[in-house]
This record gives sequence, structure tokens and C-alpha cells, in this order.
Amino acid sequence: MVMSMKKAKIRLYVEHALGEGQSVPLTRAQAHYLFSVMRLGEGAEVLLFNGRDGEWLAGVAEAGKRTGVLTCLRRTRPLQLPPDVWLMFAPIKKARTDFIVEKAAELGAARILPVRTDFTNSERIRRDRLEAHAIEAAEQCGGTYVPPVEELKPLEKLLAEWPEDRRLMFCDEALVGAGAALEGFERGGKWAILIGPEGGFSDAERERLRALPFATAVSLGPRILRADTAAVAALTLWQSTLGDW
Ligand code: SAH
Repeated sequence: MVMSMKKAKIRLYVEHALGEGQSVPLTRAQAHYLFSVMRLGEGAEVLLFNGRDGEWLAGVAEAGKRTGVLTCLRRTRPLQLPPDVWLMFAPIKKARTDFIVEKAAELGAARILPVRTDFTNSERIRRDRLEAHAIEAAEQCGGTYVPPVEELKPLEKLLAEWPEDRRLMFCDEALVGAGAALEGFERGGKWAILIGPEGGFSDAERERLRALPFATAVSLGPRILRADTAAVAALTLWQSTLGDW
């Protein structure tokens, strides 16, 4: 729940459908935020998005302490989908994992998939917490789409059920210093980016990944990056070469 700087209007993510004249009931937390924290009253306006129906200007129809209803007035922006790129990463420390999810939502990932690799240091993720970070990032950056955060899955399982038409940008720290390798592909294709954990990929994983027909091993420059930096750098590189930048 974040103030939009330019218009000084609050942007709020809601689950509810949005459309002309649509009433949107608020959750307790949203009502508390709008009416107790931000001190909005009936007639005040906010911006709503739900990841599906674009962005809507809505007016406060009912303001209670723990409840409230907004009414959609008009659509202010259409739904803008990111390119079809997934971010797969091995979870690291909590705050750094939060950072990866936040940046992935800002940089325009379509889906976020935490993966367990041989050297993954975190066995568990808090999916609800990560989803909340993705939502907050979208509220902040004017996004109309929120990338879903999936359950932690073993890398091997994801590779075993890999969709044929999706390419994999395998960020391979063993290629540190090599040239970039995304030339020759056209924009608009389906992709996934894979970032390893702090300990990097095991030799067995590297061998397996390099042999996959749908994978392209990529260098992220002449320095070894931390996993959180690597996620941001890889998305930036992909977006500017093959995405919507
Ligand atoms: N401990 C490892 C580095 C892991 S860095 C080592 O010292 O070799 C974490 C992840 O970031 C890596 O698995 C890789 O996916 C990515 N990464 C970091 N720097 C990279 C680079 N220069 N090129 C490609 N991938 C990189």
C-alpha cells in the first residue's frame, strides 16, 4: 500500500474484479490503512489494480473502522503484461530473497519460481511474505501486473517437466568474463532465467544444464556477482536484449 508520488494518489492492490461501477469491499487491513492510517473519508479517490483488469480510479463509498467499500469510477490504465520471462532462483537469506522478488516484480518478470539446487542454503520460503513483496513492488512502481510466486521446487523436477517452447538463460558463474550469449535470439520468445545460490551450481548441475537443448549458458560479466545482484543484472540484460525495454 503505497502513495503514488506524481498524483499523490494511493495505489492499492485488491483481489476483487474491477469494472465500471463495480463495488469493491475492502479487507480489514486495507480499511485500516486507508481510513485510520491515511485518514481518507467518503468521497476520497484511490487507484486500484488486481493484476488482471488494468488500473481503476475508485471512490470511497463507505468508510468504517475495519470495513469499507470502494466504487470503480473509470479505468485509468489498461493491463500491461510483462514479457513472458520467468525468474528462477535458489533462495538465499530472508532479506536478500525479499529483495530478489521485489526487483523481479519491478523489472518485469512474468512469474517467480524459487528452486532448490544442490547448494541451496535455504530449505524453506515464506510464499505469502514473498507474494506481499511482489504486490508492494507493483503498487510502488505503477505496475498493473503482479508476478505469481510459486512454491519452492527442486530444480531437477522443473527441468524434467520443462515446456518445450521455453528457452532457459542459465547464468553460469563458471563463464565469468566470457562474452554475453543472448545474440541471435529474437524478441518475443518465452524464456526463463536461472540464478544459482551463494555456493553456485554443482559440477553435476552445470554438466546437466549445459547439455539441455533449450538452455543457453550466459555470463554476467567479468566479476562474480552475489545471487541477488545477479538476479537484477540478468533481468536487466534479458529485458534490454530480448524483452520490452
Ligand atoms: N560461489 C560461487 C558464485 C555464486 S554467485 C563462486 O564463487 O563461483 C550466485 C549465482 O549468481 C551464480 O550461481 C550464477 O547463477 C550467478 N552469477 C554470479 N556472477 C555471475 C557471472 N559473472 N556470470 C554468470 N552468472 C553469475
